[in-house]
Parts: sequence; C-alpha cells; structure tokens
Amino acid sequence: MIAKVIFMAVNYVGGLIMRFPEILRLPEKLEVRDVMVKPMESALLIIDVQNDFANPSGRLYARGAEGVIQPIKRLLLSARRAGATVIYTQDWHVRDDPEFKIWGEHAVEGTWGAEIVEELKPADGEIRIRKPSYDAFYSTPLDHILRSRNIRTLILAGLLGNVCVLCTAIGGAMRGYKLVVPVDAIFTIQEFDNVASLRFMSAILKAELTTVDRLRFEVVESTL
Ligand SMILES: [Zn+2]
Repeated sequence: MIAKVIFMAVNYVGGLIMRFPEILRLPEKLEVRDVMVKPMESALLIIDVQNDFANPSGRLYARGAEGVIQPIKRLLLSARRAGATVIYTQDWHVRDDPEFKIWGEHAVEGTWGAEIVEELKPADGEIRIRKPSYDAFYSTPLDHILRSRNIRTLILAGLLGNVCVLCTAIGGAMRGYKLVVPVDAIFTIQEFDNVASLRFMSAILKAELTTVDRLRFEVVESTL
C-alpha cells in the first residue's frame, strides 16, 4: 500500500516536471516527387482560402497566407484546362457558433470574411462546400458529390495545413481517396506544424507530396 502511494506520488511529480524537447530532429527527410493524375478521376480541393484568413483585413488573418494564392491560381488554371473537378470549401459559421470560443468570431455566413478571395473566385459550374468545422467531409455532401463523379484522387490545397487541410486529408483517407499534396499550395503558420502535418499525411495517410510544377494532369485522348 505504502509502495503504491509512493509510486503514485512519484508519477504525479514526474507529470508536473515533464519537459518536452525544444529541438527535434526529423526522423527522415520529406521528399516531393513528380506526380501524374487522371483529370477525370481527380478533384482539386481548394480549402478555406477566404478573406477572413488570407486577407490582412480578415478577422482571423494568418500572416503570410496570401502567399499561397498565386501557386493555387496556377494549379487551378491547369486543373480547369485538364477538365478536373474543382471544389472550393468555405469555413461557414452561424452566429454564436461554439467554435468562436476557441478562435473568436470568423467566417460568419454571408459576410465578406466568409467569401473566397477575389483572385480565386469560383467559375460557373465549380462547386462550393460550406463546412461547419475543420474536416470538409463532416456534415457536408462532399463525399456524395465526389462519389457521384467517380473521383478517386483528391489534390489538396489551401489553409491551414495543420488544421482544415489536415483534417480533410484524414477524412478523405478514411473514405478511401488517394491524396496528392502540392506542398507549395498549402499554408501553415508555423514551420514545425507544416512539416509535422506533411509527415503525417505522407507516412500515415500515404499522401503523395509534390509541388505545383511537378504535378501533371494526364492528357485525355479525344475519342472523336
Ligand atoms: Zn471556423
């Protein structure tokens, strides 16, 4: 009994003085590769590139996030040219959403902040998914839309790499989609979180890491 109490006390104190390392070494180098995708079986998901996050006047502006707009634009143009499906997600909250306790008010439905940034405005026929939480599959018709179009591969772009992009990657992998991540089309505030999230996507979700310039869409032969 006494031994047990001492053991518990030592454990308790051990918990209080636990120190995490300040510098970590990557177990192995992350690598980007050339990737070829079939446009008819692929969807480009542009995640939450909205004024509140990517515009310096936004309510939850992530400093530097606007840097991914141009790489995403190049990716968007090649996805459109190739005929791939393009889907935009928008973080979309009702007033007094419980998530505001964590992040403060942002992306309120119908406001300027919830709109997709001007440079990436959806074209006619492109799909918008308005999502109440981080994972774009949660409580949205995304999976149904993808399946009805026989989409097998998701190309992930947008913000933030360690929050909505990561949670959507997990949601996609759990549903059997193949993931492709052009690392320069993703923005994460902290470099540590960026690398940790990409490593998880690559090692655990088996996502293929590439860049906007190394991602190619297969040219579909005309049957005419
Ligand atoms: Zn939100």
